[in-house]
Amino acid sequence: MSTTAPIPISVVRLDADVEALLLQVVRSGIIAQGPLVKRLEDEFAAMIGVKHVVAVNNGTTALIAALQVLNLHPGDEVITSPFTFVATLNAILEAGATARFADISADDFNVSAVTIAPLISDRTEVLMPVHLYGQCADMQPIADIAGGAGLFIVEDAAQAHGATVDGRSAGAWGTGCFSLYATKNLTSGEGGLISTDDDAVADSLRVLRNQGMRQRYQYEKAGNNYRLTDLQAAVCVPQLAHYDQQVAARQRNATRLNEGLAGVAGLTTPLELEGRRHVWHQYTVLIDDQAAVSRDKFVDAMNAAGAGCGVYYPRVVFDYGCYLDHPRVIADDVPVARLVAAQCASLPVHPYLSDADLDRIIATTRKVLGA
Ligand SMILES: *Cc1c(COP(=O)(O)O)cnc(C)c1O
Repeated sequence: MSTTAPIPISVVRLDADVEALLLQVVRSGIIAQGPLVKRLEDEFAAMIGVKHVVAVNNGTTALIAALQVLNLHPGDEVITSPFTFVATLNAILEAGATARFADISADDFNVSAVTIAPLISDRTEVLMPVHLYGQCADMQPIADIAGGAGLFIVEDAAQAHGATVDGRSAGAWGTGCFSLYATKNLTSGEGGLISTDDDAVADSLRVLRNQGMRQRYQYEKAGNNYRLTDLQAAVCVPQLAHYDQQVAARQRNATRLNEGLAGVAGLTTPLELEGRRHVWHQYTVLIDDQAAVSRDKFVDAMNAAGAGCGVYYPRVVFDYGCYLDHPRVIADDVPVARLVAAQCASLPVHPYLSDADLDRIIATTRKVLGA
């Protein structure tokens, strides 16, 4: 029996600077959307190098709003990843569009130009790559396809704050949608950020977010309440100042894990591909049929030994009855995504791991896999 505390897969830790700013907001009496939301938008825009950021109440809303301002019509198709959190698919359906799925690559777990191209038709309106686990999809070829065919790009960057590819940030290739949920790399508890360089898109998003209202009681379209609060922004703003150090810690941890887990039979460690800055939201290995135990037994044994281990995601996103019966979900053939869903397992990589934690994660993994 182990007497050591389990190592969680994610840790939410807010510092004294958050407490101080939150107290300031509480005392100011401006607790709904106000100056701190604006500050969060401006500072995040500067961080990722885009012209506009519009804050909303969560990452799912960010995706929905980003699609809604494109004025899609029934039958319009959005091509996305089958290997993602369910919010990606739900947002497409909520916006009234039809979802289809390009297969992923097992190198970066993301869709690519090669898998997207065969799905493009007259009905395609939007390409929605997901930058999974903190690494961007290979965006330049995807942007080339979109440019050539006149398609919009909406990036699901919920897990990829500050990730880059070819020197350009996640969220700077089209309309970027970020989540500030509690366990994401940057958090406000619940929250979302939408990035764009397009003045008209930013303007439409701001109006949509506030009941379709530009000036008080002047409604220009049917909108919604998608607003974030200053209470939430106060939780996130101080994190921006330390974010590069947090990412550096995640990168160091990933490097340590990759070194410690090299050469284990049946285990493939994750890659940071050439030209990309990976922000390591998750550290995800593949457990194949050469391994000493199955993926599911591996996950159970790791957790039993106190090394937090999760499966993101156990099935391709549309592989549930509610979607297979859905008239606006097209179940494309995605063999790589299905294989990866059966083999993936994520280990802790968060910035609060000690050297001892890393040693223990490595030793436990090797032991469970008989290496
Ligand atoms: C977290 C997440 C979302 C949704 O964000 P919420 O803030 O939880 O609504 C969307 N897509 C992906 C890939 C996510 O990981």
